[in-house]
Amino acid sequence: MERTNLLTSFQEFGLADPIARALQEENYHTPTPIQAQTIPLALAGRDVVGIAQTGTGKTASFALPILHRLLQNRIKPASKTCRVLVLSPTRELSGQILDSFNAYGRHVHLSAALAIGGVPMGRQVRSLMGGVDVLVATPGRLLDLVQGNALKLTQVEFLVLDEADRMLDMGFINDIRKIVAKLPIKRQTLFFSATMPKDIADLAEQMLRDPARVAVTPVSSTVERINQRVIQLDHSAKPAALAQILKDDKVNQALVFTRTKHGADKVVKGLARAGITADAIHGNKSQNYRERVLAAFRTGELRTLVATDIAARGIDVDGVSHVVNFDLPNIPETYVHRIGRTARAGADGTAISLCAGEEMAYLRDIEKLIKVSLPKEDRRTPGAHAAPTPPPHRGPRQAPHGHSPRNGDAPTRGKNHRRRGPAAGPARQSDASRHEAAPRPQHGGNGEGLQGVAFLQRKNRPAQPTAQHRPHR
Ligand code: AMP
Repeated sequence: MERTNLLTSFQEFGLADPIARALQEENYHTPTPIQAQTIPLALAGRDVVGIAQTGTGKTASFALPILHRLLQNRIKPASKTCRVLVLSPTRELSGQILDSFNAYGRHVHLSAALAIGGVPMGRQVRSLMGGVDVLVATPGRLLDLVQGNALKLTQVEFLVLDEADRMLDMGFINDIRKIVAKLPIKRQTLFFSATMPKDIADLAEQMLRDPARVAVTPVSSTVERINQRVIQLDHSAKPAALAQILKDDKVNQALVFTRTKHGADKVVKGLARAGITADAIHGNKSQNYRERVLAAFRTGELRTLVATDIAARGIDVDGVSHVVNFDLPNIPETYVHRIGRTARAGADGTAISLCAGEEMAYLRDIEKLIKVSLPKEDRRTPGAHAAPTPPPHRGPRQAPHGHSPRNGDAPTRGKNHRRRGPAAGPARQSDASRHEAAPRPQHGGNGEGLQGVAFLQRKNRPAQPTAQHRPHR
């Protein structure tokens, strides 16, 4: 791990004035740990491999140095090319990254575009005609654009791979390899992943040149601030237990997790029967629907949101006082991702897990990962609980159903940025979104970088042009 003297103020990075001004307007004063470590290295032109989760400020850790370096060498991108390519696994994350570039680069006058699946290609093709400085893309759509001769990757100077572990989970790795093979060898690559299992480390090894390694230092963590408990109960008792939890006045807003899309819909129906209004987001819901529901959740109009892991990834809503695991996740790291959705912005949070007998093995894995024995309340019917059977879905890693999710830019994130403008549009169900209930295969990850990560709250930004932003030069 690189050890540098960490800078405590953005001024010390020596970022170009227009960027420094935008940061002041964003009210960023102190760099987050991942920013303090990454920015100086990236400014110096190093390749960087960073272990950091969303919510740690990692977008700025790559966007700021890249903007600075683009400014140092202002050239007009050639037609159908981009100077910066950011690959992200999902439409929502891509949109947020583009928004961040536009926000931090608002005084820089660069062009930025989005190439995501699930929306018609025509506009994206047109926005690439004149070339762009920054292109944020999901892998399937990017390859389609390249194969359709709408884009050439020969002029890429900076490559960012974001949420690499998620890319692997979603079956994008072959697409990534194809894309990387088309890029110039001489480029700067910044590679981020929340975890660093072997497959990801191998991929980084192939893509990066003498990379500096950074990781967010475990600090007094969000996880520690979350009041966590487990209710052991019969499977059939879960709907009533959930309704009881949600009726408590202490629940400001609740995010309820289920393992499957079908499960999420079932929970919403069960809550309706108990007189509790809830809505669900998952990959079978249209992009418009998800955005509407998320908007209602953000404003507090919707108190209870039921979500699958993929759909909920990245939901940062201040008001979430409770996370309820209606089902325990079969991958222990997912538990950490889930409960990190509460206790945002310095608030306290509660995470309650409903654990039926067959989920005990999942619970043990979680406790092993977080190194905490969670307090448990046993509500199981006496005598009814047989010895726990091994839980299902713990199979080896493989691309679900053995096909690559081309254009399958599964919806996973929906922070405070809503997609507008030409890039937004009706979503068709992506292949990858259909996979969201598929087992996340085991990758021997060690959960590195997950525990104790400090999360930041993503705030609403003023409306930014999304699909392409090309002010006059
Ligand atoms: P990210 O991990 O990039 O998704 O960032 C999470 C949230 O933290 C976003 O809303 C950012 O705008 C915000 N953020 C990032 N860096 C900082 C900083 N240094 N100070 C304050 N907020 C920040």
